[in-house]
Amino acid sequence: MSPDDVVEEVKKSGLRGRGGAGFPTGMKWSFLAKPEGVPRHLIVNADESEPGTFKDRYLMEHIPHLLIEGIIVASYALGSNTSFIYIRGEYAWIVDILEQAIQEARNNGFLGKNILNSGFDCDIHVQRGAGAYICGEETALLESLEGKRGNPRIKPPFPAVKGAWDRPTVVNNVESISAVVPIINLGGEEYAKIGVGKSTGTKLISACGNINKPGVYEIDMTISVEEFIYSDEYCGGIPNGKRLKACIPGGSSVPILPANLLLKTAKGEQRMMNYESLSDGGFQTGSMMGSGGFIVFDEDQCIVKHTYTLARFYRHESCGQCSPCREGTGWMEKLLWRLENGQGKMSDIDLLWEIQSKIEGNTICPLGDAAAWPVAAAIRHFRDEFEWHVTHAEEAQVRNFGLAHY
Ligand code: NAD
Ligand code: SF4
Repeated sequence: MSPDDVVEEVKKSGLRGRGGAGFPTGMKWSFLAKPEGVPRHLIVNADESEPGTFKDRYLMEHIPHLLIEGIIVASYALGSNTSFIYIRGEYAWIVDILEQAIQEARNNGFLGKNILNSGFDCDIHVQRGAGAYICGEETALLESLEGKRGNPRIKPPFPAVKGAWDRPTVVNNVESISAVVPIINLGGEEYAKIGVGKSTGTKLISACGNINKPGVYEIDMTISVEEFIYSDEYCGGIPNGKRLKACIPGGSSVPILPANLLLKTAKGEQRMMNYESLSDGGFQTGSMMGSGGFIVFDEDQCIVKHTYTLARFYRHESCGQCSPCREGTGWMEKLLWRLENGQGKMSDIDLLWEIQSKIEGNTICPLGDAAAWPVAAAIRHFRDEFEWHVTHAEEAQVRNFGLAHY
């Protein structure tokens, strides 16, 4: 197959980026600029840091050769002779697994010069991050890869035009690149028959929280959310017969949903585990499928406390370039801590709402939106719980005695 034929198969497959945005992978590949004499790069984003998301880790730990094969095929399609895996610093042990697998591929002639007498050269370098969540944002990743501080760049230009070292670059998630292997083996059209609508292929879901069987599940996107939570094949229900209270279905960058909105769509239909069904409801984010980090909350969980925990996370991970994100995340964290610890006022709830609304859409990268959305969704769906923390200040204080404020 020619490189263009490979791109065509990926386009036909309908594969959507598995990192969280769901952007069509084949379309992204076809945007790659090809100026004469300028090297191009494929970079695999393995900086999996989204709270609740641990599916790429599973792929790299258990089947690193699937990823490597995907990189070789994708590099051939894109004309990348030097490709990279940028992996989060905390996945130190996986670096060793990948390095060993890459060496095995080299020893077998699958990497290096003139791969299997094809005339195509390709090598893979593994670059470790240093533990910053923001370096998973593709342009911050590029800065970090180039040896600079991981500050996101303004887009456009997109990496497909001006990426690593200003060269045309495709940045794809680990799961997306791993999916290239079955796409080429089956053919794009055949692959597109798996799944439903524009949710083609299979999707890895990392499930955690109040469920009986936390873990990584591969689904074909035709099952309902209810089946995913309660069936023994997947999460196995909620421990101790507790009721489902809420869920973050796609990693912390998508808003929390109360049980009624989670299980049924805006049209009153059963909500399915796919991109379309999980976007039905006018949520702020594109699709609630996100990165597939599925976090379940039972009836005992305090939404204010969890919102505080996320706010603290985003404040800590903000790179500080834009003032709405830098200042807003810290302000939201302080207000949430006050409320959670029974020291808040009713007006703090409105102030929180006001602050998150000023962050959304006013920042360089999506971290600002991702910090604002959990706060907005928590207030929208669980305002009574915020008010309880004001009207029952003493109880709130006692209940959270010992909650550390960093
Ligand atoms: P995005 O929608 O800005 O971009 C998606 C991809 O499409 C990018 O690679 C971008 O370069 C490309 N693209 C979009 N328009 C293009 C165009 N006109 N020309 C060329 N390329 C184009 O989203 P994003 O910032 O890449 O990702 C946001 C998502 O990341 C969130 O929804 C969240 O779910 C997810 N996320 C995942 C993790 C994780 O650990 N997996 C962590 C944080 C956030
Ligand atoms: Fe940095 Fe936040 Fe601005 Fe993103 S939104 S560039 S993380 S300050």
